[in-house]
Amino acid sequence: MHYAEREQLILAPYALSSAASKGREHAEPVHPYRSPFQRDRDRIIHSAAYRRLAHKTQVFTGDLGDYHRTRLTHTLEVASVARTLARALAVNEDLVEALALAHDVGHPPFGHAGEELLSERLRHVGGFNHNAQAVRIFTRLEERYPEFPGLNLSHEVLAGQRRRAEKGAATEQPPLEVQLVDAADSVAYDAHDADDALVLEMITPEELALTGLWRRATARVDKRYTNLAADAHRRCVIHELLDWQVSDLHAATKARIAEQGIESLADVQCRPLLAAPSHEMAELKREFQSLLFRQVYRHPRVLTHRTEAIAALDDLYQRHLLAADELAPPYQQVAVEAGPERAVADYLSSLTDRAVLAPWRRAQRDIG
Ligand code: MG
Repeated sequence: MHYAEREQLILAPYALSSAASKGREHAEPVHPYRSPFQRDRDRIIHSAAYRRLAHKTQVFTGDLGDYHRTRLTHTLEVASVARTLARALAVNEDLVEALALAHDVGHPPFGHAGEELLSERLRHVGGFNHNAQAVRIFTRLEERYPEFPGLNLSHEVLAGQRRRAEKGAATEQPPLEVQLVDAADSVAYDAHDADDALVLEMITPEELALTGLWRRATARVDKRYTNLAADAHRRCVIHELLDWQVSDLHAATKARIAEQGIESLADVQCRPLLAAPSHEMAELKREFQSLLFRQVYRHPRVLTHRTEAIAALDDLYQRHLLAADELAPPYQQVAVEAGPERAVADYLSSLTDRAVLAPWRRAQRDIG
């Protein structure tokens, strides 16, 4: 069955169909059997920037072990949650998948610490934001095709990603597909950051039980199982956290669609946000995230790694700034057009954690 026919059968009237796409900046012939958003997803998966997420920090750096999430596995969890919701709500799963896989591609090495450093160094020339950086990668920096710079993604994927960079500034809501990826991101990290922090012993189940979200997920697990060993119990509670949040998001979104009488994409865009947790879940998540923020994201072991990582990244920044004309061609061109700061940030943000740390550690050893 052709994708257009398939979409007509399965998509809700308020979904963003392939037929409604505004196309690509550089016109290309349509594909005989892949929808435009499937092609976008494939282009993202085959990009170098996407592959490098495997060696970029989500919250915990590689040095801490090999259990915890990387930026890539986080991305895959977000895509998994977002696709589940998209299918359940009959919106465009291909578009949701492309948006989810794209959402963190602009992250520099070392997570938010890396982003803070670059945004500080570029303060006077427009700053640095990982969401905006993904758009730069997709429209200009990634080199894949002889015909055009970037990936020439569909207008809707780029608009969805731009929307992440402009949070709060726009007057109308984005399509449900974009809203769902945002909500799925939060579902995924609340569950996996708790899981990783427990395994890394940066927080205890007792500390997590100070929050209503954890206590209630635990109560649901304890109703079904007794006498689970600590590890098995942790895995069940994390699973419950995911399943409960996804089910809540699905039910709350579905209810809003019905209450607001949403019948078209235009309806989605002129009403308040539809894809969000229930009021009760939103409160529970707020309390949970504030505990994670205090106890985990500011944990001494996280901060120690951060200090070294930032020193290494800043050293590289300062050295390249003095020799931006020696960068690879796409960055040299940026230096000419937008100045050396932007060129160096474009280059450094493309690097993996280890590409920054390995030479820095060698140099430190030689000095020592
Ligand atoms: Mg994310």
